[in-house]
Amino acid sequence: MTTRAARQVALIGGSFNPPHFGHLMAAVFVRGALPVDEVWLMPAYHHPFGKPLESFEHRVAMCRAMAEDLGPWLKVSEVEREVGEGGRTIDTLEYLLPRHPDTRFRLVIGSDILHDLPNWKAWDRIQGLVDVTVLYRAGYPDQRAMGPPLAEVSSTEIRKRLELKDLPGDLIPRAVLVYMQAQHLYGL
Ligand code: ATP
Repeated sequence: MTTRAARQVALIGGSFNPPHFGHLMAAVFVRGALPVDEVWLMPAYHHPFGKPLESFEHRVAMCRAMAEDLGPWLKVSEVEREVGEGGRTIDTLEYLLPRHPDTRFRLVIGSDILHDLPNWKAWDRIQGLVDVTVLYRAGYPDQRAMGPPLAEVSSTEIRKRLELKDLPGDLIPRAVLVYMQAQHLYGL
């Protein structure tokens, strides 16, 4: 009897408000450095701590615009909409895993959120369900993180520049900027 190797998928969750080169570099690093067939960007439906966000649909569309050029291994998952409002990472994993029995999932996070993990719902259970990979986000060194420091860029910084009508073409892919402008997001 032959057994089929499980497809390996790395999940990068976040608000992606908007997506930027830091997210893109994280995806490319994970795909290049780990035994991963696909990377799924997983925009949060609503931020659990109530941060104001562009709509889920726009954030999904911006992630798709960013992913388009990279190849079929980079996908955008809308699973958080199905999990619904208030869904936390454990809820998403408990929804996703039984629906993809042939897939081995890995959760990828940036080192900036390590300090927050004790506040995550069921963090112990999450670690029992999936492998967790921590990437080194520039400015947040931590022994638990792997790889080189990734881009020093955040959605917060981009939103601040957009408020000043300073187009952050150096921090986000051009396709994302074009979409933002066409849809008049972030006050553009
Ligand atoms: P905000 O500034 O609005 O808080 P953000 O830039 O931190 O947003 P998120 O969408 O919240 O972006 O991040 C999603 C995931 O990607 C998190 O795990 C985060 O740690 C990781 N990430 C974001 N930016 C980077 C980066 N520059 N390098 C490495 N990881 C990153």
